[in-house]
Amino acid sequence: MKREFLDILRCPVCKGKELRLEETGSDDVEIRTGKILCSVCGVSYAVDSGMADFFKDSGVDVKREQEAVDREEYLWDAEGERYRINKANIEKFREQFLALPEGDGSHFFKRGGCFQPIAEGAHRFYSTLEHMQLKDGDKVLALGDGFGYASYKFAQRGSMVVALDISSYLLASDLYIKDAYFDRVFSDMHDMPFKDALFDIVYCSAVLHHSKELEKVFFEIRRVLKPGGRLFVINESSRGVFERVNPLFEDLKKRGYSDTAYTIPEWVKAARSAGFKGIRLELLSIADDYIARQINKNVRPGGTLHLAYFLKRHQWLERALLFLLKYPRILFRPKSWRIVCWK
Ligand SMILES: [Zn+2]
Repeated sequence: MKREFLDILRCPVCKGKELRLEETGSDDVEIRTGKILCSVCGVSYAVDSGMADFFKDSGVDVKREQEAVDREEYLWDAEGERYRINKANIEKFREQFLALPEGDGSHFFKRGGCFQPIAEGAHRFYSTLEHMQLKDGDKVLALGDGFGYASYKFAQRGSMVVALDISSYLLASDLYIKDAYFDRVFSDMHDMPFKDALFDIVYCSAVLHHSKELEKVFFEIRRVLKPGGRLFVINESSRGVFERVNPLFEDLKKRGYSDTAYTIPEWVKAARSAGFKGIRLELLSIADDYIARQINKNVRPGGTLHLAYFLKRHQWLERALLFLLKYPRILFRPKSWRIVCWK
């Protein structure tokens, strides 16, 4: 972390704004180790590997999920050998982390590779990035940013970025910050260590569906946004109103993950209850997703792929189709969507 980062923080325990930093180690980029102390309640928070850790009293769900993430052997190579996320393995897979989200065309990003889901969603990331129209100096919070590649892309565009996550995956951010700096914190998204009205943009990708209290997390996001600030939500799991919960979620729960599949009306309702002034739901292109998956499989274009390309060439036709499919998708199978909210 940088010393200036202290200015935007508040103590998550007592909400006090008088924090001080005791630095014990730094490098040419940032403060690497030390302690953040709250002058109001006396609680201290460790700074390690440049990251402030604001977990003092994480709930049972968060603890279980942190343990599950730490146990996960997320990475695997061409031989199928599996690795956990830690400093040594992040260094080993350095080139792949630096190529996120779209990848470098290697097997890691192809069908069956460890970064496949990220690579196949890269078009959604870049389309959202375009929508954001970031301005120099915009303050951006990337909630649940995992490895930190999204924060890296925002920082490269001149934004002042904070990445927040519950997991040690955030250690991978060390690969990015030397090129484009951003701050990183460990924290619960329901109770963030930030003062009110700080950020121009909050970006969430595949993170809010881990919350059991969707309204509370939307409320907390609204609190840290500036008036007029925007929230972008993508890649969240959801189900149709008449669709049964996928048994996969039971399996995830047993492994310690707290993923939940809300319906689209539940998403919109949570955002509305939190008091957002404007809420826009976009059901994203099915053709884009299909093309991304097929290209990634290296298959020869068949009839359906030709049809998907045809739709992309005739935007009016795709828009008409998306319009016709809107309610069937909300009721039966939403697939990918994006919610943008304004404070
Ligand atoms: Zn305090």
